[in-house]
Amino acid sequence: MTNTQQTVNPATGEVIQTYTQMGEDEVNRIIEQAHEAFLSWRGAPLTERGDILRQVGKLIRERKNELAALMTEEMGKPLREGVQECQLCAAICDYSADQGPQVLADEEREMQGGRALITYQPQGVIYGIQPWNFPLYQVIRYSIANLMAGNTVLLKHASNVWGMAVEVEKLFRDAGLPENAFRTLFIGHDVSDSVIAHPLVRGVTLTGSPKAGRTVGQKAGKALKKSVLELGSNDAYIVLADADLEKAVKACLMGRFTNGGQTCVAAKRFIVEEAVYDQFRDAYVAEARKIKYGDPTQDETQMGPMARQDLRDDLHDQVRQSIENGAVCLLGGEIPEGRGAYYPPTVLENVVPGQPAYDDELFGPVAALIKVRNEAEAMRVANDSVYGLGGGIFTKDVDKGIRLARDHFDTGMVNINGYRLAQTNLPFGGVKDSGYGREHGGFGMLEFVNVKSVMIV
Ligand code: NAP
Repeated sequence: MTNTQQTVNPATGEVIQTYTQMGEDEVNRIIEQAHEAFLSWRGAPLTERGDILRQVGKLIRERKNELAALMTEEMGKPLREGVQECQLCAAICDYSADQGPQVLADEEREMQGGRALITYQPQGVIYGIQPWNFPLYQVIRYSIANLMAGNTVLLKHASNVWGMAVEVEKLFRDAGLPENAFRTLFIGHDVSDSVIAHPLVRGVTLTGSPKAGRTVGQKAGKALKKSVLELGSNDAYIVLADADLEKAVKACLMGRFTNGGQTCVAAKRFIVEEAVYDQFRDAYVAEARKIKYGDPTQDETQMGPMARQDLRDDLHDQVRQSIENGAVCLLGGEIPEGRGAYYPPTVLENVVPGQPAYDDELFGPVAALIKVRNEAEAMRVANDSVYGLGGGIFTKDVDKGIRLARDHFDTGMVNINGYRLAQTNLPFGGVKDSGYGREHGGFGMLEFVNVKSVMIV
């Protein structure tokens, strides 16, 4: 039986394309080809690898409008945000090409009675399972790092953005990457399990939900393969009484509603000291009300539909359950009439434990406001989460902000007095149920290498 998979435009509900899923035999052949490609790619000088990756970046810049239009069509991102995503991806290509030779260079060490080298050797075929929310960026960030390190790469993209999977493979081919060094697999979860188990696949990296992380991490562990898991979160942004409130409101709006709130490292819970709570809340709701949401192909649109109807319906259930358990809805919270997976900017207050808005990740445009008495309570509530990806603090006392960020926040990243997404030169990743491993900043290039000691006596 042939399995097919359709992609659907979330703004209209119309089918875009129907894909035929690959079977295990075809996938096994591709894995063998990717391994063959590895045997020569591993010998390519670092500068040669870098030159090809720089060319990938150049092509992304040239094709940014077409790539952004595809994102809009497949997952509803406004065009402007798609173009920004392309610019970040091109910067990742340049950064990896520039820094790779240093990050991956041999290191000399002294040892008793001789000297030693630490070398970073590629290991083979690395399998990436990626989500739809940043359909180009998620693929670029692990594949560029691994190709720079000399590994070859397989991709299983989220099944609602397979058009982007086709385009990324084309980007690599057109940039001159050797054949089969990057291949897309059009597969479901069952065949994915056989990829993880295949002896020629040497590592697995997944970005997605904790549920997928647990399943894929277990399968990788069973096959004794290293995995990197970049999972969900419920990031807390603390607004202290001495914060610049105007700046805090602006950053917290951007942090919550960019990409329709469908960002792992979005600001999700806003923990505000009671002295400034009312002022913050009123300004935040007033600004959120002004967000223009609607047709993602229009220039003035700031927020499009959610990526799929089922995701929108699940989010609405979480909002309803939160309200049933005591949350108060200040804005939005209703599914609009008409077609498309739209959900309005929504703000909840009185958010407490026992509500999905406090306990779980709300992967959409819903802000949760929490009032606290003081800084100590704010920090306790921020860390009262199974997740630990990012977070933020607003205070005019930057030294205090740094102390809280460094010594008290149980997360992999913290913003002080602003909201910034991934940075090419800084590690990205989390702790607790947000997963393990790091992307970016050179760290991503070292996740799937063999760190080898060579001892010379
Ligand atoms: P998801 O359902 O976990 O899907 C993500 C990817 O995993 C898709 O390619 C999906 O394939 C695949 N997948 C799911 N279960 C699988 C299984 N058992 N075996 C093989 N593949 C499997 O996640 P989502 O709801 O689309 O994405 C949102 C989640 O990702 C949120 O929790 C978000 O926070 C997280 N995320 C984290 C980061 C980060 O860097 N930490 C970045 C972005 C998103 P199908 O499409 O075929 O199901």
